[in-house]
Amino acid sequence: MDLLTVGTFARPPDDLALRALQPTLGPDRALLGGGTWLFSVPQPHLAGIVDLTALGWEPLRADDEGLTIAATTTLATLADVDPAAHPAWPAVALFAGCCEALVGSRKVQHVATVGGNVCLGLPAGPMITLAAALDGVATVWGPDDGRWTAPVVDLVVGPQRTSLVPGEVLRSIHLPARALRGRTALRKASLSPLGRSAALLAGRLDDPADGSGFTLAVTASLPRPAVLRYAGLPDATTLAADVAALGDGEDGVGGGWYDDPHGSPDWRRAMTLLLAEEIRAALGEVAR
Ligand SMILES: Cc1cc2nc3c(=O)[nH]c(=O)nc-3n(C[C@H](O)[C@H](O)[C@H](O)COP(=O)(O)OP(=O)(O)OC[C@H]3O[C@@H](n4cnc5c(N)ncnc54)[C@H](O)[C@@H]3O)c2cc1C
Repeated sequence: MDLLTVGTFARPPDDLALRALQPTLGPDRALLGGGTWLFSVPQPHLAGIVDLTALGWEPLRADDEGLTIAATTTLATLADVDPAAHPAWPAVALFAGCCEALVGSRKVQHVATVGGNVCLGLPAGPMITLAAALDGVATVWGPDDGRWTAPVVDLVVGPQRTSLVPGEVLRSIHLPARALRGRTALRKASLSPLGRSAALLAGRLDDPADGSGFTLAVTASLPRPAVLRYAGLPDATTLAADVAALGDGEDGVGGGWYDDPHGSPDWRRAMTLLLAEEIRAALGEVAR
């Protein structure tokens, strides 16, 4: 789609050039990842675009501490990480599943970026699910040359709302090795086989050497992501009560179960409970 109000286009070639631009970025300037959302809807408030794709950020960097994913990494690159190449990190198996949960063609996945998915902040953002389930920590570059970190699950504060302010750039997401050593399960519900996620849940059971903790990320059925954590696999009743509490009543995460054309709140609630129990059961089998 043509963005007729956009008059400037910058493509910083390196970090220095980006850092110099950042203080000038107001709400009328957008950062460009893959553009699969930015160019898909009218953006009448925009006067300029700053393209992040020429920065040459290393897409994936693995070391003893874990895996760092650059914000500009495409979903296709992430989906292609071969679990067999990382035998110590079973959770790598979650990458492809989460990428496929974004129901776009392979063409879309080849340009859509991890950073764009997180910063767009859609409830059905599967990179948010992935990061939430694997304790992902975002590194953000501020306009004043500073940087700060925050759990990705705290960065997304509502539907298409993050805690980022104009001028801030999501630089990367770090997945710690401890989380990557866990076993994972992913479940999705949508109104049609190729529909947008109405509930997208990812669970992780830590390696026994790391304490066998259980983590459940609940996304798409809530206005913002939520994470439940347990010292071990909870029983079905406990998990169901905790999952229900995320969306029920005023104490829920951001005001009830999410409501949009991709699913009614009641149905989303029922699916979320069902998928949570499926994940608990699947990871319980793994633990036997
Ligand atoms: C067919 C189709 C299906 C889709 N299905 C889904 C779906 O199921 N779930 C879903 O979540 N989305 C979906 N989308 C929307 C979108 O394609 C994805 O969210 C995609 O991952 C966005 O990434 P991008 O790199 O293209 O972002 P862009 O369009 O480039 O940017 C998205 C937003 O993030 C900001 N941004 C980008 N990078 C950064 C950064 N590093 N730091 C700060 N801000 C940044 C931009 O300024 C913009 O506001 C779909 C799109 C299509 C076309």
